[in-house]
Amino acid sequence: MGRTIGIDLGTTNSCVCCVIDDEHVVIPNAEGSRTTPSVVGFTEDGQQLVGQVAKRQAQTNSENTIYAVKRLIGRRFDAPDVAQARRSSPFDIVEGPNGDAWVNVRGKQMSPAEVSALILKEMRKIAEDHLGEEIEDAVVTVPAYFNDAQRQATKDAGRIAGLNVSRIVNEPTAAALAYGLANVSAGPIKVAVYDLGGGTFDISILELMDGVFSVLSTSGDTFLGGEDFDHAIIDWIADRFEEAHGVDLTEIPMALQRLKEEAEQAKCELSSTDSVEINLPFIHTGDDGPLHVEETLTREILEELVDHLIERSLDPCRTALQDAGLRRSDVDEILLVGGMTRMPKVRERVGEFFGQEVDTSVNPDEVVAMGAAIQGGIIKGELTDVLLLDVTPLTLGVETAGGVFTPLIHRNTTVPCSYTEIFSTARDNQEMVRVHILQGERAMADDNKSLALFELTGIPPAPRGVPKIAVTFKIDENGMVNVVARDEATGQEQSVNIVADGGLSDQDVERLIAEAEQKREEDARVRELMDLRNQAEGLLYSTERSLEMYGQELGPEEVQELSEDIDTVKDLIEDANFEELETIIATLEAGAHRLAEAMYASMDDQLMMDDDEATAQSLEE
Ligand code: AMP
Repeated sequence: MGRTIGIDLGTTNSCVCCVIDDEHVVIPNAEGSRTTPSVVGFTEDGQQLVGQVAKRQAQTNSENTIYAVKRLIGRRFDAPDVAQARRSSPFDIVEGPNGDAWVNVRGKQMSPAEVSALILKEMRKIAEDHLGEEIEDAVVTVPAYFNDAQRQATKDAGRIAGLNVSRIVNEPTAAALAYGLANVSAGPIKVAVYDLGGGTFDISILELMDGVFSVLSTSGDTFLGGEDFDHAIIDWIADRFEEAHGVDLTEIPMALQRLKEEAEQAKCELSSTDSVEINLPFIHTGDDGPLHVEETLTREILEELVDHLIERSLDPCRTALQDAGLRRSDVDEILLVGGMTRMPKVRERVGEFFGQEVDTSVNPDEVVAMGAAIQGGIIKGELTDVLLLDVTPLTLGVETAGGVFTPLIHRNTTVPCSYTEIFSTARDNQEMVRVHILQGERAMADDNKSLALFELTGIPPAPRGVPKIAVTFKIDENGMVNVVARDEATGQEQSVNIVADGGLSDQDVERLIAEAEQKREEDARVRELMDLRNQAEGLLYSTERSLEMYGQELGPEEVQELSEDIDTVKDLIEDANFEELETIIATLEAGAHRLAEAMYASMDDQLMMDDDEATAQSLEE
């Protein structure tokens, strides 16, 4: 049985963790970082870049670099918060075939699940490279407040990435799991997990006792996170720039991308310093020449700019406390999760709100992935002394007469759970009943998230009200909904698996899996070519420098030959002629070695002289 990895699929960064010999270990990527940017870049020559490499090229390829795709996953195109994302994204957000939010990259429309799959695939690869084995199973985390469509789409992303997602776990629950594991004997305690990440905010109240984790309540805001803090800074800079120069930098994609990076960096630095200089030379060229951004941002100004955002996070905290039937003082521990909780003002305000010190003992960037890995360990039976009882974050119900939403399973009910409702007919000889399933907290059906509208057909002719159709609504341990309908008279069962209208159909997912499979070889070849190109560029760089410094150690003919090889390699890279590149690299390498030999030979002479001097010196001492 292979290992199960835990993946925190974050809005800004993702993290992968695994249980090795009872220890949960965060797996670093090839660059040595323990988190990987959740950024995907699509280059002109058809490559898909993920992580730091994608982030690095974002400035010059902003329209084809997708970040914060988690904000779009399983979302309707016309949702107000998606409209907000459309205004602030340099890339194109379009209406997908089902009316949900998709992205348009280089003329190809992609669902957020497909983009997320590329990130998950990268996380899988990081784990496989590190562990030296194939990974198939994963536990993936989502914000506790994600609805069925968002969870379904996240699961789809896992499938497209070739992963069997054995469980979807709520992020704050995962965090508490990681935190609680170290404190198994400490219970019973009530913990508030305040999770402010790059794009979403979650608050969960949990009870930990004897290795049992029960989520008492959860609340949040799927459109509140670090990005909003960045935007507050961007707007501050852009407003001042517009006042001074009459140019709106947010309308210029390249400038906006530079602003975004600078704003985020300034925000992070202001967590440890009182003031930062924001310098963006040549941000735009005006009638009188180049224009630059030169501003000083203090922690005080930043705190004023984002005060309303921090306050906004406290409303869901109030709701969660109320739902759990607790007062603020009943909470024993405040656990902070998400990069944004590094901001001192956030810590201070949350501490003030709960009237106690917040716990900062865990690494807010890694704790969620650790919890996911622990959950993976529980599923595999590797960890037996912990049990997780999660709750459904949203109420599940049906539409009844007059467009009213009638709840069946209330939010914060422990999952897995099920509820059965008997439906009947309204007219004589009615052959069919229609059931509209929704999720949400609003009174009217229209204001909630529609999950599915299904029809039960083939009801035998009978007077109205006589047929009894038992419809069982189930929420599984992943928080996903499915429905089973049973005609009591005939005993016939009909199972309705909800394919959320914001997600992908099974056929879509199958197609994408097949595509990924088909592209596996192609992907491998592209990676090989990239490696070759990197190798060639590295060799070019070092050979050119050595030639410049030590060229005189070679004869003029050899210098000429080497210079020609360098030019050829440059041309072949430019023309993407990889076949010839492979051969010429070998020639250039041989030339570079000859140069290195000549260089070392001359250095040896140098060293011998130095050694003589050193001996002379020590003798003198
Ligand atoms: P996460 O989604 O948990 O990875 O959180 C990422 C968010 O945390 C991003 O908006 C980051 O800019 C933000 N962040 C990371 N480090 C810091 C820091 N030292 N101070 C303030 N914000 C930070």
